Amino acid sequence: MKPTYDFSWMCCLVIDDSHSVSNYLAAILRNSLNLKEVYVAYNVNDALAIIDSHSPIHTVLCDLNMDQVDGLEMIRLLREKGFKGYFGIISSMASKVINSAEQLTKAHNINLLGSIAKPVSEESLIKLLSGVGEKTKQTSSTTKVGSLKIYELIRGIEKHQFEVFYQPKIDSLSRQVVGVEALTRLNHPRQGLIFPDRFIDAMEKTTLINDLTKYVLNNVVKDWLEFNKNGYQLNIAVNISPGELSNLDLPDYICNLLSDNHIPTHLLTLEITESALDINSPEALEVLNRLSMRGVKLSIDDFGTGHSSLERLRVYPFDELKIDKSFMLNSSKSDNDRSIVESSVLLAKRLGLKVVFEGVESSDLYQMTGNLGGDIIQGYYMSKPMHKNDLLTWLKKWKAMNS
Ligand code: C2E
Ligand code: CA
Ligand code: CA
Repeated sequence: MKPTYDFSWMCCLVIDDSHSVSNYLAAILRNSLNLKEVYVAYNVNDALAIIDSHSPIHTVLCDLNMDQVDGLEMIRLLREKGFKGYFGIISSMASKVINSAEQLTKAHNINLLGSIAKPVSEESLIKLLSGVGEKTKQTSSTTKVGSLKIYELIRGIEKHQFEVFYQPKIDSLSRQVVGVEALTRLNHPRQGLIFPDRFIDAMEKTTLINDLTKYVLNNVVKDWLEFNKNGYQLNIAVNISPGELSNLDLPDYICNLLSDNHIPTHLLTLEITESALDINSPEALEVLNRLSMRGVKLSIDDFGTGHSSLERLRVYPFDELKIDKSFMLNSSKSDNDRSIVESSVLLAKRLGLKVVFEGVESSDLYQMTGNLGGDIIQGYYMSKPMHKNDLLTWLKKWKAMNS
């Protein structure tokens, strides 16, 4: 009979101080369930070293009762590491102990798969691991209906099914194209082109978002070289999820990628959504300051939707402020929204930031942007996000119309 599960993409770490139990579990995971990688640790220190050197680990299966450092402490250490994968408890303890360990896992904001009792059966393991895609749907209040399964997203990366589309950013006075924003779509083998609202949230809940960012950056670099060959030195903006700013290796990764391809750093902009950016994160401060010092441009995205916006502008080295499209879309009808746009523009100018109006989707808005004082405009009225080949055609047409 054909199995109804597919774990061939999954990397799992088993932690149990009993060698026979961990080796037995690893054998089932490798040989019967066909996981991609199975690592074994007999203590918490080894487990942490494996997580550091073999990312991404999608699932950790952990015994509760171990000598020295126990499973409860492992949960806390995972939280401190910012572990984004799934956690399953394997234990022979009484159910009330297991219950409270489950509560603790949730309290630490770690994706809990559930628990299974020893001795572990193949069926119980299948049931537990099958929760991985499902849980993303259930635990996320913001994940949109119709989010994709984790394995579809992993397959998307491995089989290069993600595609980067580009939407022009235009100087509001000269009407010249100053750059493009890279917006990612998934070309699903059965469902066709899928938009980010069905995959970004789910990917942000795991380390997959880091893989997506690297994938997008590598594609952007390739496309930049092609645009450059065609005579366009564009600034390309890439969206970065705020969670990725805790990765202290990100600046080196980005700057090496650019310098290996002889692309000046000022031609990359990173757009970071305002509302999720933590003001008190020393890592984010270090990462953004280092990128800024090396010349990469930083843009605060969806400005106006978060709280204490002003504080973020004071703390982080931004170059550009994108006013959220919801304010733009309403600014012709609502005085309040128009006031928010106008005062954001004033504030940005005082702080020396460029202002981008996104969501310019009608000719009315296009005309209005002139009076509102933004530097750059972006929206459906000029162009929807396009495939790179269509962008080259569009750029030629736009140049002919506006010169
Ligand atoms: P965003 O960064 O705010 O991007 C702007 C969104 O508004 C895009 O939606 C774009 O297609 C849409 N848009 C552009 N012009 C107009 C307009 O005139 N009217 C209206 N109503 N909408 C317009 P899209 O491509 O669906 O992307 C949605 C969000 O997904 C993006 O919002 C961004 O936050 C996220 N995203 C997209 N690609 C990536 C990625 O590679 N990595 C990460 N981390 N996030 C991404
Ligand atoms: Ca953006
Ligand atoms: Ca935006």
